[in-house]
Amino acid sequence: MRVGFVGWRGMVGSVLLERMRAERDFDHLDPVFFSTSRAGGASPDVGKPAGPLRDANDPAAFAGLDAIVTCQGGDWTNAMHPKLRASGWRGHWIDAASALRMKDDAVIILDPVNRPVIDDAFARGTKDWIGGNCTVSLMMMGLAGLLERDLVEWMTCMTYQAASGAGAQNMRELLQQMGEAHLAAKPLLATPDSSILEIDREVAGILRDDRFPTEHFGVPLAGSLIPWIDKDLGGGMSREEWKGGAETNKILGRGNSVRQDAEAPGAGATHAPPPSRAGRGIHDGKPPIPVESICVRIGAMRCHSQAITMRLREDLPIAEIETLIAGAHEWVRLVPNTRDESIRHLTPAAVTGKLEIPVGRVRKLAMGGHYVGAFTVGDQLLWGAAEPLRRMLRILLAH
Ligand code: NAP
Repeated sequence: MRVGFVGWRGMVGSVLLERMRAERDFDHLDPVFFSTSRAGGASPDVGKPAGPLRDANDPAAFAGLDAIVTCQGGDWTNAMHPKLRASGWRGHWIDAASALRMKDDAVIILDPVNRPVIDDAFARGTKDWIGGNCTVSLMMMGLAGLLERDLVEWMTCMTYQAASGAGAQNMRELLQQMGEAHLAAKPLLATPDSSILEIDREVAGILRDDRFPTEHFGVPLAGSLIPWIDKDLGGGMSREEWKGGAETNKILGRGNSVRQDAEAPGAGATHAPPPSRAGRGIHDGKPPIPVESICVRIGAMRCHSQAITMRLREDLPIAEIETLIAGAHEWVRLVPNTRDESIRHLTPAAVTGKLEIPVGRVRKLAMGGHYVGAFTVGDQLLWGAAEPLRRMLRILLAH
């Protein structure tokens, strides 16, 4: 299989290559690397010759490839995908960007959760395989055991999202902001009996200072948070919040009969994805699950966390709920709902760089036996971005 890689030197692309090298994926395919800015330069070292970098803006350079894996971004996808398809190129398109995600003939790939959908779509000739929104993928990886059994009647996901979701420059800016905040307080911190209120005044002062580095986030994140992620859709909903409902239901194949504008959902967007021509869903034909969120950026580096409230269709004992969550697939880890276990194992610091998806704080809520709370954490560059793409390549190789 001859596979073209675009966007491999970006943040998601770098994690993808790292994982592909670790899993020896390159042993099974012939890679060709592309760049929009460095055509003719050297390809990355993947243990076999790949030739010089090809021009990612030249449709002819993709001729003869069986698959393209792109982490280049939505603008490039929007520019090149229609051109290549119009030119008759019929290879598989595996994409980290959201541009094609809600298209009727594209499948959102998260194989530990929706492998039957992927296999069904493959059999029907689907060629566009798109990674899901990181927050949605991580939530579904954590709660797969409940979602697959159709136990969730509705849910809210209150998110605590890392800087990496906004891009590499934002991660750098978060650290610069942390440094500036520390610098402002440093002389006072060095004096053990300095007043904590004075320290706090210094930090608040620098956060509000015009010279505080906010070029990428627009506002301080260090020492603060940002309660809005992605575009404003009007009606009080952010695009990130809309994705929670739309993508969860598309991945499950729910609500197919309800149409909505997939490109630019407006105020009051429904929770239903557009009808799928790509393949049958796990819950085909069932009504969409309402998923509501308030998505918040916090000062973590690359792990997203989510506090979940759900109403289950059945009043199950907590032990059974835990067993279902823990048994869904090999990456989910149930963290016992105790203080020590939670603060040690259910944090971005503990999970960063790992494939495991811990789920903890599982307990019944005061509203009644059907109501359950949970908290989950995941590395948004692994299961939230790169891992579903490399696994899709493996699925194609196996077919
Ligand atoms: P990125 O880091 O900005 O990289 C994209 C491209 O920018 C690179 O492939 C490279 O292309 C170019 N580039 C220019 N200067 C660069 C530099 N100094 N270092 C590295 N690359 C440089 O983008 P990304 O955050 O990985 O996101 C890629 C896509 O994945 C987007 O569509 C995004 O929405 C999606 N996604 C992102 C995340 C996330 O957490 N960030 C999660 C899921 C999906 P050339 O080699 O062609 O110049």
